[in-house]
Amino acid sequence: MRFAVSGSYGNKYAFLGTKETKLAHRETFRKNADFLLSKSWTMCVVASMVLLGTAGAYEFAYPQEAQSRSRQSAPPNNVKLSSNSSAGEVHLLPVQGNISMLVGAGGNVTVQAGEDGILLVDTGLASMSDKVLEAIRPLSKRPLVYIINTDDRGDHIGGNENIGKTGRPVPTDSQRYAVADRVAASHAYIIAFQTVLDRMSTPTGQAAATPEGAWPNDTYSVPQKNLYFNGEAVEIFHQPANTDGNSFVLFRRSDVVSAGDIFDPSEYPIIDLKRGGSLQGVLDGLNRLKQMVIAADHQEGGTMIIPGHGRLSDAADLAVYQQMVTIVRDRLQDMSKRGMTLEQVKAAKPTRDYDPIYGSTTGNWTTDMFIDAAYKSLSGKQETSQSHGN
Ligand SMILES: [Zn+2]
Repeated sequence: MRFAVSGSYGNKYAFLGTKETKLAHRETFRKNADFLLSKSWTMCVVASMVLLGTAGAYEFAYPQEAQSRSRQSAPPNNVKLSSNSSAGEVHLLPVQGNISMLVGAGGNVTVQAGEDGILLVDTGLASMSDKVLEAIRPLSKRPLVYIINTDDRGDHIGGNENIGKTGRPVPTDSQRYAVADRVAASHAYIIAFQTVLDRMSTPTGQAAATPEGAWPNDTYSVPQKNLYFNGEAVEIFHQPANTDGNSFVLFRRSDVVSAGDIFDPSEYPIIDLKRGGSLQGVLDGLNRLKQMVIAADHQEGGTMIIPGHGRLSDAADLAVYQQMVTIVRDRLQDMSKRGMTLEQVKAAKPTRDYDPIYGSTTGNWTTDMFIDAAYKSLSGKQETSQSHGN
């Protein structure tokens, strides 16, 4: 740098003035050069500190990750990973991009917030609505616009009525569909697969299973429904799994999937036979998720998954669970082929090695209930369930 200065500028100043002027100018340029050098050196130091800081953070992050993963792999028998907290408090966890995860309200609630307003995937239990509203209100100045229901089980749709009536639909360019007439202007859109509405509204003349304000008012009956909200594409996929009406939601820019009960690392998958659920459906759903969820370096991070229950997960967590479901499916299918009765299957304990992690003898979804429903669902549709899996 100094050679360039004394070369070109030096000649120029030699022509313009005395040797002293030339030296003075050369001195000025040297100082400038030194200043620039010292500035870039400072920037280097700052950059290195940032890098070191990041590296430090990663060093802390890894043991934490490892800890939580090993907790999923082998929790003590008395630890049940569940967001059905009896403390009655909800907690909002920022995930990435526009997305946060609200835990403690029953099923996990996914929150997408931004300039257009708020979108929720599932609404938790009815009794938790006030706390859910309190937690999401500060996230956007604009109203709640969308609720997407991943299935029609109470811990996912319970808050539909109370939370939905606080919202209002805001027309955007991407809305090319009409909202049903019965929906007042002051109500959020509630999106779900058609069978969810069928069950909630019970159109057979009997009393409806849920109040009308809780019903989906924007159903779909094709494989996929798309939205554009808060500056990102939102893809809603139909996947018959725990019920015949499951949806899972991909937030493309934020790179987060809201999986609903298709992925529930806190227990064996729920198979709601009365609502058309099947073990093979759950496995198909997990396999689809596996194709969409992309891990970052060292199989950590990347696409994040908000499960129906339990903690925030990534590709590695999904792989562990998908493998378990595949193996259990294979065992049950083999027993079914050999013509074993349900009693014989239960006596053979086909999930024994996984029971310390996912099993339960109490609560809403016991190991016994899982084996019962899983086996019945496999025996019912044996022919169609051969070609999938790992
Ligand atoms: Zn659930």
